[in-house]
Amino acid sequence: MLVRLLYASRARQAIDAALLDAILATSLERNPRHGITGVLCHGNGIFLQALEGDRQDVSQLFQAIARDPRHHDVTLLHFEETCTRDFAGWAMGQVNAARINTATLLKFSARAELDPYRTCGAASLALLKELIAGASVVSRTGERGRH
Ligand code: FAD
Repeated sequence: MLVRLLYASRARQAIDAALLDAILATSLERNPRHGITGVLCHGNGIFLQALEGDRQDVSQLFQAIARDPRHHDVTLLHFEETCTRDFAGWAMGQVNAARINTATLLKFSARAELDPYRTCGAASLALLKELIAGASVVSRTGERGRH
């Protein structure tokens, strides 16, 4: 049974290259073993992450992520059963919200900034899907395309 989960959280420290690299290294090492795919977007000190995979695996991963002391205010935004993945090509793609154009942010929220705490879950998910379609998602090493 495939599911898709979306959550937001606030980083406890500035989201710098070292923090992102550590998170993505873990994700890229573990997610393929568990059949997890998804995207991690960051900006304004906020993480927005979509996780897809088997219900049990996504549930266990979300619990592990929620316990992670590197962030707090972990808030479930959206959860659904699904027949197909939206992020199948990504063990964990990444997007820096600072690189998203203003029109794309404004399409899904009241202000041109990443703030999933003030946006409905469906809109945050739609934003991630649009970023995938527009090739804004990159791999850990900065490459575009599927990884
Ligand atoms: P363990 O004690 O080894 O595992 C705890 C439980 O989770 C076990 O039941 C294990 O089977 C299960 N589990 C561990 N990894 C996965 C996985 N990838 N899929 C399904 N079940 C799993 N870590 C990731 O692995 N993938 C991510 O996409 C990811 N995204 C993150 C995003 C953010 C913003 C942050 C802050 C952290 C993220 N992490 C991710 C790291 C995560 O929080 C944990 O540090 C990491 O999963 C190891 O947890 P643990 O030490 O509790 O693992």
